[in-house]
Amino acid sequence: MHDYAPAKVDFLLRNLRDLQTRLEAEFQIPLTVLHAASWDEVPQVVAGFVERVGATHLYYNHEYEVHEARRDAAVQTLLAPKGVACVGAHDECIVAPGVVKSKENKVYTVYTPFRKAWQDLVKRKHPQDWLAMSPDPGANPASVRTVVPDLFGTAIPEATHEGLPGYTLPIDESVLAHTRAAWPAGETAAHDRLKRFAQSKLSAYSVDRDFPALDGCSSMSGYLTTGVISARACFNVARAANGGQIDTGDKGAVHWMQELVWREFYRHILVAFPRVSMNQPFKLDTKLVKWTDHDPATKDEAERHFAAWCEGKTGYPIVDAAMRMLVQEGYLSNRLRMVAAMFLTKDLLIDWRRGERFFMRHLIDGDLAQNNGGWQWSASTGTDSQPYFRVFNPYLQSEKFDPDAVTIRKYVQELRAVKDSKALHEPHARLPAAVFVRTGYPRPIVDHKAARVRAINAFKIAAGKV
Ligand code: FAD
Repeated sequence: MHDYAPAKVDFLLRNLRDLQTRLEAEFQIPLTVLHAASWDEVPQVVAGFVERVGATHLYYNHEYEVHEARRDAAVQTLLAPKGVACVGAHDECIVAPGVVKSKENKVYTVYTPFRKAWQDLVKRKHPQDWLAMSPDPGANPASVRTVVPDLFGTAIPEATHEGLPGYTLPIDESVLAHTRAAWPAGETAAHDRLKRFAQSKLSAYSVDRDFPALDGCSSMSGYLTTGVISARACFNVARAANGGQIDTGDKGAVHWMQELVWREFYRHILVAFPRVSMNQPFKLDTKLVKWTDHDPATKDEAERHFAAWCEGKTGYPIVDAAMRMLVQEGYLSNRLRMVAAMFLTKDLLIDWRRGERFFMRHLIDGDLAQNNGGWQWSASTGTDSQPYFRVFNPYLQSEKFDPDAVTIRKYVQELRAVKDSKALHEPHARLPAAVFVRTGYPRPIVDHKAARVRAINAFKIAAGKV
């Protein structure tokens, strides 16, 4: 129901298996996995388990999406009358949602002021205040009963082709094989990756992050999204590497910490504006934008364009490289995500929700708050402080961030043999016609200049400015 990619489900299960092994080996604590056929059944299943083991306390981490929050409320409603204390903790964010407010006690809706207030709070206040938690009288850990190990040794199931309701996507074994090699499971693997990143790439992060060929990002997202490592652990490592500073000092470290604050920002937005979790735009006036896939006059062409985008056959090599990488590997760096998302929503003027869902169905780190935030930012329906005239030029993005066409050659096989890197950013125009035809690579499905004007007009019309 939440469009988790098979690679993400597989990663989650692999991590649970690792946790199960370690909990049992190191602490003799069994990890039990409960199965519920639907969201609605979760409260009953949890209540049944609580009753079976005679638990007096239920500890859990808050999940902020609407569905998840409703589920947790329903669990509490069921358990409270039975005298079971439900104790929620905020582990997803460094600073809990709702804590960072403006002087007027308002939620920030723009990143930069949010970030400044966030940094100020983290610098000045004790970590207890980052969470704004009051001690729960029912949460006395001493009263938690020890569960007998051999009673509940449920094995974690393998990811199967069945059991993923709602998917029309087949599970691609080669993608799973790739992600299993690229994303080893477990907390130890996550900490090792973080340590290596801090030692060898953090300082150069500010510059390298935008160049996919340099592999300058941390690739921590899968571990963060799945809860294998906490954002606090990541933040603390970067902060320590920067001599305890969070907003001055090593440029790379400061920048990386700020990216973690983007993550916080989108989660805080999700809590303050639950509509973004329910397929609604953050900027309500953008509901009136006439996306090409909604307009009967352009719908058929838009569907062909959407298919070309999904398959990486738009005729824009950097966009196609990104889309093929996404489908084959379940991961993209931020730059490539922005390029692909901007192209779908501006050049093709296709509803961002289609792209959001497609990404979610392929990303190993698929995360509602960040994916939605990134898509709405790209589509100019979100929290971007710049209005709709922010339209990336895919040719310039390609020249700037993949100057030697390393990423293009890696993922767009048709162009691999072309020696002239400059030509690869715009092959239909820069290669001799006969050479271009021989590559078998498609011509651009839209003209960028015209598409840009069309997109800006569509937003102007929606805003009543035309
Ligand atoms: P690094 O560059 O090393 O950054 C470290 C961490 O900071 C990331 O792991 C992530 O948790 C956070 N972060 C970095 N950039 C951003 C950002 N722009 N917004 C919010 N948090 C950020 N991130 C996801 O985790 N899941 C998603 O489903 C997701 N979908 C996205 C969709 C679009 C259209 C866009 C533009 C961005 C999306 N992002 C998403 C944000 C970002 O692209 C990824 O977090 C990042 O590329 C992951 O790689 P990394 O761990 O190497 O990040």
